[in-house]
Amino acid sequence: MLYLGILILSGLFASLAVKKALKEGLLKKEQRIKKLEFEYAELNAEKSKFIGINRGLEGSLNETIVLYNLTKDICKSLDEEKIFIIFKERINDYLKVRDCRLLAKDADLSLYQGQVIFPLVIQQETLGYLAASDILEQDQEKFRILAQQFLIGAKRAHLYKRMQELSITDSLTGLFSRRHFLDRFKEELRRSKKFKYMFSFLMVDIDKFKTFNDKYGHLTGDAILREVAKTVKETIRQIDFVGRYGGEELSVILVETNKEQACFAAERIRRAIESKDIKVYDEELKVTVSIGIATFSDDGATLDELIEGADKALYMAKEAGRNRVKYLS
Ligand code: GH3
Ligand code: MG
Ligand code: MG
Repeated sequence: MLYLGILILSGLFASLAVKKALKEGLLKKEQRIKKLEFEYAELNAEKSKFIGINRGLEGSLNETIVLYNLTKDICKSLDEEKIFIIFKERINDYLKVRDCRLLAKDADLSLYQGQVIFPLVIQQETLGYLAASDILEQDQEKFRILAQQFLIGAKRAHLYKRMQELSITDSLTGLFSRRHFLDRFKEELRRSKKFKYMFSFLMVDIDKFKTFNDKYGHLTGDAILREVAKTVKETIRQIDFVGRYGGEELSVILVETNKEQACFAAERIRRAIESKDIKVYDEELKVTVSIGIATFSDDGATLDELIEGADKALYMAKEAGRNRVKYLS
């Protein structure tokens, strides 16, 4: 009996101990679950934070790529108008803008009230403005960043133009640049007026030059132009001078030369070019020129009159069938 009682009691104690142990185990598990839940929530918060950072980085990476592409395209051109066209086409990749205009420096800005105006300042000189309409408040800073890129491109174009204007020689032909030629022309005009000399002005234009470009390409066209320039230079005297007046138009001043002598010199130039075999890459080409002559003071007493006179004579040479010399009678 006693033995049975002890057995029951010890069984009871054992079951109580097991129950206690189970309860403690459960409690511990619950605590672990809570801890894990807490850690999970923490990790989730961290994940969301990283997703946010990642999105931010992706956004700014995309913006940087757009900015890089815009800058790269802008830097391909040295012409301000073209740079603006590229800028205008690309700006909507980056932000929403209804219209963007390039304004001249003397534009009436009161007409653009309410728009974002970005002044284009180069070396303390305002060259113009960019005016953009309907840009969201939060996009205005982005617009200024893009406009800054446009300004960098415009600065390059501006400096290139200045450099071209200031240079004495034309980079393709090595002849005088148009600006320098005209300066020398004016000087010759002053000198001839003072000493009562005659001088002649020739306008030399390559015949059907466009067809050479179209048929053989621009590089061949450039090589022809260089060859014609060289031939003209070799055919005139040292005291005379020659410039690249326009694209494929050369201009020559024959100092102390009357009309008759000028016709003779121009005819010599025409023949020299006609008889030349111009070798470019694998081609051997024949080129001709037409020449118009104006003589000071028979055909005019000012720069403009003489240029106009030679231009008219050149037109007559073209009309008469090209490869010839004409002068105003
Ligand atoms: P025309 O006999 O009436 O003078 O005919 P043209 O084809 O010579 O005259 P037009 O004025 O129609 O064309 C002149 C061409 O000269 C057009 C232009 O592309 C080309 N040109 C102008 N400057 C350059 C240059 O620096 N290099 C090259 N390759 N071509 C040029
Ligand atoms: Mg021509
Ligand atoms: Mg021409």
